Parts: sequence; structure tokens; C-alpha cells
Amino acid sequence: MNSVYCVFPGGKFKALTLSYDDNSPESNRRLMEIFRKYGIKATFFLNSGLYPYDDDRWEIKRMYEGFEVACHTRTHPTIARCPVTEVIDQILGDRKALEAAVGYPVRGLSYPNRSMSPEITALLPLTGIRYAREGETTGNFGLPQDLLHWKGTCHHNQNLLEKADEFISLFKWQYLYLFYVWGHTVQSQYRRS
Ligand SMILES: [Zn+2]
Repeated sequence: MNSVYCVFPGGKFKALTLSYDDNSPESNRRLMEIFRKYGIKATFFLNSGLYPYDDDRWEIKRMYEGFEVACHTRTHPTIARCPVTEVIDQILGDRKALEAAVGYPVRGLSYPNRSMSPEITALLPLTGIRYAREGETTGNFGLPQDLLHWKGTCHHNQNLLEKADEFISLFKWQYLYLFYVWGHTVQSQYRRS
């Protein structure tokens, strides 16, 4: 008798995804050109309040076509230092602005400045956030056990090519493997967050 298995799209047992924080429009654009060329999927976590002009914000839909756009708070504060009303505004305000720009539900967050607290994480479902990526990494290819504390495999400056070789060599189709890389397209003022 056959078993029913969860698989990645296309029946695959391995998937690669990349995740980039902060606006960096020019370097993000260059990276997306490479990703499009090689069919690579990625999420871009954006700060809607740091776009200097409203016109720029409306460009997001066209610019990030084919990639996921998700929240990184409106203006990138260290949210664990903010009053709770400010945290809600930073997350929900970013979500609303990004959704208005891209026209689909925005469900992801990456914690700005790696800042979080149990209270903030508990708020996330109330602001419509279904998953939140941390700066910490696991070094492995497992799926997240806690979507609000999603730790990727590695930062892109962290033995990336060795990890890629390890991922390529995985062959046991009875498991699901996710290679989740995160980083920045430029060294931002927020450092690795
Ligand atoms: Zn950031």
C-alpha cells in the first residue's frame, strides 16, 4: 500500500529558498536578475516606512514580481525596546503598506535588529503574521518546528558553498529538506539584521 507524503511543489523532497532583509532597491534588483536567470525563489523583507517617496512604494509590486514580499517593520526599530502600541503599528503598518503595494496577503516578518520578546511573538498572530524569521541559524536543513521562531540554515556569509555541497549530496527522499539562506544584498546600517 502506498503512503501519502507531504512534498514540495513538483513532488520534490528538497527545496532552496533565500531571504533578504532591508530595502536596498538597487542591489536587490541586481540580485533578483540573477535569481530570475536561475529560477531561484526568495523572500524580500522590506521596511515600507523607509521608502522616501510614495511613488517608490508603488514600484514594489512590479520590482518584486515573482518573489515574496514580507514585513521587516515600518522603520526598523529595535522593537523589544518599544512600547507595545508602537510595535503593533510598526508591524501592522508595514503589512498594510506592503499589501497595498503588492496586492496579496503579506504573512511573513523578519525580526528587525534581531529584536524580539515573548510578548512580541505572542502579538504576531493578532497582526496577521503567520511566520517570523530570526537571525539565528541552525546549520541544518530541517523544516521549522515553530513558525514564529523560524531559524534558517545559514547566513550567506556562513560557509555557504560547503552547505550547498552538503545539500546537493542529500539523497534520502523519505525526508523533506529545506535549505534556507538569509542575508543582505548590501552591508546595511543595521548590520546583520
Ligand atoms: Zn534589517
